[in-house]
Amino acid sequence: MRQTDNSLDSLFENASAPTPLSVLQKIYGYPSFRGKQADVIGHVVSGGDAVVLFPTGAGKSLCFQIPALCREGVGIVVSPLIALMRDQVQALKQLGVRAAALNSSLSREEFVEVRRAIADGALDLLYVTPERIVTPAFKEVMGNARIALFAIDEAHCVSQWGHDFRPEYRELGQLADHYPGVPRIALTATADPHTRDDIVDKLALHSASVFTTSFDRPNIAYEIVERDQPRQQLLRFLSRHKGSSGIVYCLSRAKVEDTAEWLNAQGIYALPYHAGMERELRDRNQDAFLREENLCLVATVAFGMGIDKPNVRYVAHLDLPGSVEAYYQETGRAGRDGLPSEVWMAYGMADVIQRGRMIDEGNSSTDVKRVERAKLNALLAICETPGCRRQAILAHFGEAHAGSCGNCDTCLKPVETWDGTDAAIKALAAIYRTGQRFGAGHLIDVLMGNENERTIRFGHSDMPVFGAGKDLPVKTWQSVYRQLLAAGLITVNHEAYGALTLTDEARTVFKREREVRFRKDRPTKGKASRSASPSSANAKSALSETDMALFEALRAKRMSIAKELAIPPYVVFPDTTLVAFATERPMNSKDLLGISGVGQSKLERYGDAFLEVIHNHE
Ligand code: ADP
Ligand code: ZN
Repeated sequence: MRQTDNSLDSLFENASAPTPLSVLQKIYGYPSFRGKQADVIGHVVSGGDAVVLFPTGAGKSLCFQIPALCREGVGIVVSPLIALMRDQVQALKQLGVRAAALNSSLSREEFVEVRRAIADGALDLLYVTPERIVTPAFKEVMGNARIALFAIDEAHCVSQWGHDFRPEYRELGQLADHYPGVPRIALTATADPHTRDDIVDKLALHSASVFTTSFDRPNIAYEIVERDQPRQQLLRFLSRHKGSSGIVYCLSRAKVEDTAEWLNAQGIYALPYHAGMERELRDRNQDAFLREENLCLVATVAFGMGIDKPNVRYVAHLDLPGSVEAYYQETGRAGRDGLPSEVWMAYGMADVIQRGRMIDEGNSSTDVKRVERAKLNALLAICETPGCRRQAILAHFGEAHAGSCGNCDTCLKPVETWDGTDAAIKALAAIYRTGQRFGAGHLIDVLMGNENERTIRFGHSDMPVFGAGKDLPVKTWQSVYRQLLAAGLITVNHEAYGALTLTDEARTVFKREREVRFRKDRPTKGKASRSASPSSANAKSALSETDMALFEALRAKRMSIAKELAIPPYVVFPDTTLVAFATERPMNSKDLLGISGVGQSKLERYGDAFLEVIHNHE
């Protein structure tokens, strides 16, 4: 590989200031802007402040990188994760952009070098941690250097409402005073209105223009199943994703470890990640995830923020997340590259009880706990909806969607519903008659007429409701209780060990003032659940057999280049670009430049290597 001098000046020799579109095409190799990218970029280039609320994968990075390249001076990027800065800087360097990071991981020599580059005006982009940027030392390092803009990435970290709250972010409001006249742009994929308000408020962005787009992620296929034999169910899901990378989320550290170990025993390459692991090992596993192509990372929610690996092909949840927001963020890590990706969750009543207990035992105020419970219920309602999942998720964020998306389990295999009014009355009666003191397990024993130690001891075996539910199987009753909960007809009393209690609404059912319809659970074993899922989500699925062989050869080349340079493969070229190589078969440099993702710098670095693979394949 040739290492060339790729300074931007040499690319734009005759132009005084490059235009956003010319930067997009020459540096990034993309033909056109997407969505509102051009609007944001135009606004910031002309000196305006911006708040950018785009979903993951929409292309937020370009919204600050391109203005930084078009404006005079260095663009400062505030980013919360040191471990990921290095990859971002490397990705920019591959594009010929002069980028550096300033953080505690630098050696003395590296620091001096960055400092000199700043003083010489030889940097286009500088990544900095939030705690460092507000220090007098930073101001001193910047000296008289011209600042093109401040970009505050993962801006939701400023909000206590979000799950990634970072107190240091609060201080970033000061930038407005310390650097007047320098445009600031805050970016996040968080859709929640509380968080948005906090960003504007805490970052002093009251006069900023706010840019939003739809939060739909059309390339993500949603599937939520009832948990039955979770490991076997997971294995079936993973069997659709052989050879690609994904994340499996678990609630506890112990479950992360156990699941990763078990998956390896099943022949699936898996590594654990959670906050209780030694830092070094954790970072190593994260690195492996970024650099390898077929790794299943089993993780707690400690993993994921800022991960910009574009080809995460699946996200699985073995436990229910705490809210729709969390579910959306975690699943949103799939398919950043826009290619088909699948997300899957297995959940059961036990999750609802456990999550509820976590809320109750947490040290939030009573008000916050009430909000947390409402958030959990909102997610439960999405799990139990017989309608389109995408529609339900987007509705939660206040976005209208017509439904029938054709890319979620309920759309692909419509759920049957049944008139459950009688069953609901029985289920509610079992709660009421036994004094609203028992969980679903015991209530189902009562309904099924199981004479066991508990039903006898409490005198429940003598009640009229005892055995009143024998007409339906146990699994149906479990589903009935989950759906009653999702419908707000019952609640869980966590102070009474997860006892189910009636809400005021339940009365309308007893009085037959409303009909209750339940969704029919699907069979969970064998092929039935498979057919409800979208076809194998895969970058390659659209390729013919010969194109596929070439794609694999290109992928191998990419991996060897990435290994040699110690960078993640997607930094060399994303999958979308390799797919285009395989189908369009460029023959020379000019052809290569016509492919999305090939800019001038990457053409010079890798063009020959990939052309050779294509020629040899003829
Ligand atoms: P976000 O930060 O919003 O999640 P990224 O900035 O990581 O998204 O962009 C997601 C992917 O889309 C990246 O691989 C990026 O290079 C690519 N991308 C961004 N903008 C464009 C565009 N205009 N045309 C083609 N690809 C783009
Ligand atoms: Zn749908």
